[in-house]
Amino acid sequence: MGSGYTMRCPKCSYKFHAITGIGFMFPKAYEETVRKAKKGELGTELQTFFQEHEDGAISAENVTLCCTKCGNLAYGKDLTMYVPKAKISDKKDKGKKPGDAPNKDIVYVSWMDLEEKYTEFAKYPHKCEKCGGDMRIVDEKEEVLCPNCKVPLEVKEHVMWD
Ligand SMILES: [Zn+2]
Ligand SMILES: [Zn+2]
Repeated sequence: MGSGYTMRCPKCSYKFHAITGIGFMFPKAYEETVRKAKKGELGTELQTFFQEHEDGAISAENVTLCCTKCGNLAYGKDLTMYVPKAKISDKKDKGKKPGDAPNKDIVYVSWMDLEEKYTEFAKYPHKCEKCGGDMRIVDEKEEVLCPNCKVPLEVKEHVMWD
């Protein structure tokens, strides 16, 4: 069961589907994403990030991506990297770390935690499948343009399916 919405171009037949509701920072989705990131399945950027920041976190929220070069639209995970705020001010007493054993468990970091306790480290470098250009995250309130005609897409009502 999922829900989402369809955007259509009023000029050409272009259609774009966005899914909402599933994968919104649920513990399972988060763990899965972090596990993949640590294994390197989501690219070297995230793997290196977790190697260097054991206590780092990422946003597993689903977002709409737009290519800054060709305007291609894609749907994927945010994957912005975050580091805990406390760690930064804690840097002085580096000599002794409490609980030196590496923590293998993936701690679920909710959206609220990210806002309150973490600070943005780097944005994930999303690449366009079509042209290899840089993709940026489209704001929810932003108008999405047709990659072909560059006219705003018309958002259709939410659709639900099972
Ligand atoms: Zn179009
Ligand atoms: Zn592109």
